[in-house]
Amino acid sequence: MKNIVILGSSGSIGKQTVDIIKRHPDLFKVVGLSVQSNIKVLEKQITELKPKVVAITDEAAAKSFKDKNYEGIEIITGLDGLEYLAAYSDANIVLNALVGSVGLKSTLSALKAGKILALANKESMVAGGAIVNRIKEESGATIIPVDSEHNAIFQCLVGECKDEVERLIITASGGPFRGRSFNDLKSVTVEEALAHPRWTMGPKITIDSATLMNKGLEVIEARWLFDMPYEKIDVVVHPQSIVHSMVEFKDGSIKAHLGKTDMRIPIQYALSYPERLPSPLPSLNLIEVAQLTFEKPDIKNFPCLKLAFESIKRGKTYPAVLNAANEEAVDAFLKKKISFTTIPYVIEKVMDEHEAGNELDLGILLEAERWARSRAREVIDLH
Ligand code: MG
Repeated sequence: MKNIVILGSSGSIGKQTVDIIKRHPDLFKVVGLSVQSNIKVLEKQITELKPKVVAITDEAAAKSFKDKNYEGIEIITGLDGLEYLAAYSDANIVLNALVGSVGLKSTLSALKAGKILALANKESMVAGGAIVNRIKEESGATIIPVDSEHNAIFQCLVGECKDEVERLIITASGGPFRGRSFNDLKSVTVEEALAHPRWTMGPKITIDSATLMNKGLEVIEARWLFDMPYEKIDVVVHPQSIVHSMVEFKDGSIKAHLGKTDMRIPIQYALSYPERLPSPLPSLNLIEVAQLTFEKPDIKNFPCLKLAFESIKRGKTYPAVLNAANEEAVDAFLKKKISFTTIPYVIEKVMDEHEAGNELDLGILLEAERWARSRAREVIDLH
């Protein structure tokens, strides 16, 4: 029996993880859950899964929950609860499905405690990859990526030698606005941006997919997860989203991972690794798919991808600054304060003003993030 903690259990990945766990009650047991404020979903999950501990990070939501008196369940409130849950003594696997760089501390906490970390929170790798890898090395903990592209690469690398890898090829669907010009993109609405053609995801990542920032964050994530220089990571647009990513080896062989566009497949693999379990879906019908096409990403009209590459080239605190500015800009777009094309403008401005020092530790990183967020908010307000 594997005991599992789900951080961010009311979000899209969290709910799909619960779906997988419920299919295998003999293999998986949920011991801990965390939500920000969605008490309704949490209550349903408590009834179904009977966890030992729950964390609610939003204080007001926690108060209304506490009034209800759940016997035998430990309830923790505030952001510290996430770190406690990530290191929970009864857990074997911690699935981190938090949204944004708020997930970094939980990632570090799970690794320090030697857990198997099923990582869906890409921002923790983007912001703190160097620090995350340092802690992982020290503790000997394991990270299994949940993000479909990285899960695909992870699977392609099973049984392979890292020195023989020539490059990683990350596929991108191109998002809902593929083929549009920058001028055209100025007037797209929040509703249009939220309608992703292939994947069902939460709002933050769906906007990131529309700007191509999601792919940029994934390049940075891959750089740290697989310890690959960014020069050896390519992005190709693949609108059918059937090939989830590829690895090229030095003999010219390319291994690809294909599958349906359903996050439950990588989630299940992350939980069952190194074993495989029966699929929750019918088989992929390649005759129906018929065609797999590939094209170059359009960085001229979608500058976020270029900015992400630029941040990793500059290194140090730049990826964390890029990520923090992006989180603020996406939030402002979702609240209809700025236009779609202002998102890259905000990020570029904040990145250009950032001055990184030579040292890098968690304190320096969090300070750079704090600065980037407040500067991004100013740029948004002035715009
Ligand atoms: Mg992905």
